[in-house]
Amino acid sequence: MITLDKIVQFAKTTGFIFQGSELYGGLANTWDYGPLGSLLKRNIKDAWIQKFQRETPFNVLVDTSILLNTEVWKASGHLAGFSDPLTECRNCQRRYRADQLIEAHDPNIDPSGWSTDQMYQYLIDHKVTCAHCGKAEFLPIRQFNMMFETYQGVIKEQASQIYLRPETAQGIFLQFKNIQRTTRKKVPFGVCQVGKAFRNEITPGNFIFRTREFEQMELEFFVKPGTELEWFSYWKQFCMDWLINLGLKPEQLEFDDHKPEALSHYSNATTDIRFKFPWGFDELWGIASRTDYDLKAHQTHSQENLEYLDPDTNERYLPYVVEPSVGVERLVLAFLLNAYDEETLENEDIRQVLRLHPKLAPYKVAVLPLVKKHHQEQALALFETLSLNFDATYDESQSIGKRYRRQDAIGTYLCVTVDHDTEETQSVTVRHRDTMEQERVLIKDLPAYIKKQIHY
Ligand code: ATP
Repeated sequence: MITLDKIVQFAKTTGFIFQGSELYGGLANTWDYGPLGSLLKRNIKDAWIQKFQRETPFNVLVDTSILLNTEVWKASGHLAGFSDPLTECRNCQRRYRADQLIEAHDPNIDPSGWSTDQMYQYLIDHKVTCAHCGKAEFLPIRQFNMMFETYQGVIKEQASQIYLRPETAQGIFLQFKNIQRTTRKKVPFGVCQVGKAFRNEITPGNFIFRTREFEQMELEFFVKPGTELEWFSYWKQFCMDWLINLGLKPEQLEFDDHKPEALSHYSNATTDIRFKFPWGFDELWGIASRTDYDLKAHQTHSQENLEYLDPDTNERYLPYVVEPSVGVERLVLAFLLNAYDEETLENEDIRQVLRLHPKLAPYKVAVLPLVKKHHQEQALALFETLSLNFDATYDESQSIGKRYRRQDAIGTYLCVTVDHDTEETQSVTVRHRDTMEQERVLIKDLPAYIKKQIHY
């Protein structure tokens, strides 16, 4: 697999991802998505909405706000407990997440249920060293809250202090009653949301894997208590199938089922889908059976009844929740790493090709005039027609061979070339990214032909 450094370089030179605030020396761990990256991101989100909402009879989509009443975070437990264990090297002042230090020291250990004292004792007993200076001198661990604070209105005072959401889920729980009432959905049903989340991470890094600003795609699936583990298995497999159908290789993916002692207090089953990143298997997607923890917390704190009334049995209950939650940027990274290929051709040339699934490819089709002077007008007219239905690009500079290679490198699925025979035969050459094979297609058949190719 390609290294992380190489994919960062590739993403920058091709226009997928640039460093944030680069003109001013950058802002650590912020990234901007360029013309190709923003299309890739949008295609990932579209593919998720297509599968998780449009194609299921169960699920609806919402878009709730980033800024929420501070009571929400008191009720959800985020203000008290959304924290990571922070430690610092006494010698070089480098900061670490203590749980990550322990996992790096012994990958068979899962310290997620440990107290800060237990973690500190482990660091001392096992003489865990700082990766930067090599000294084993860590300061006592304290819990660091990852919520981003800001102020609403003109006066910066305690009363106007609010938080940027660290996950999109809470907006769904808050609107549970309104959504159920207006859609008249019966349990089981789910609510999907795509949106920004913010976490003041102690150790952001690995390019776009862990950042302080990111996008999540979350489904909160409401079920009758007692049926949650069946639904948990269902969504677990559903998420895995979605990744594989979009081209990730099964051998690069694994489930990491959390052991009972490592489960959060509100969860009776949790798994992570892990992808093989260049540094090893790491979390891509968290899937948790969360019982009625969230609805109950908001019901208690707001004193509003959030129970569901089953119209068939007249039972009243708080639904249990199964939550698959995934970060868009982690998916961008996984799909890029998986798709990047350098192929040695018969003439020993190296062809750089991004084998993204056609649904994810930023451009489905590139329109190329064989000779700019002769074919520009026809090619531009064709571009205009095709771009009504497909993400298309147009390129007329340099030789046709160079243009094909450029399109291969950014994952464009088909190249359509207008040439000397086009006017007379009303046909074009279509070249396929993956096989480099070419065929002649009538212009009038082109939209249907492309549609068929990209939906295989
Ligand atoms: P991690 O253990 O990696 O910190 P987490 O278990 O805290 O992640 P969740 O709260 O379950 O993560 O969030 C769900 C998903 O959101 C993650 O699986 C990941 O895809 C994404 N995500 C979480 N934090 C970040 C981040 N800082 N940057 C990018 N994506 C993130």
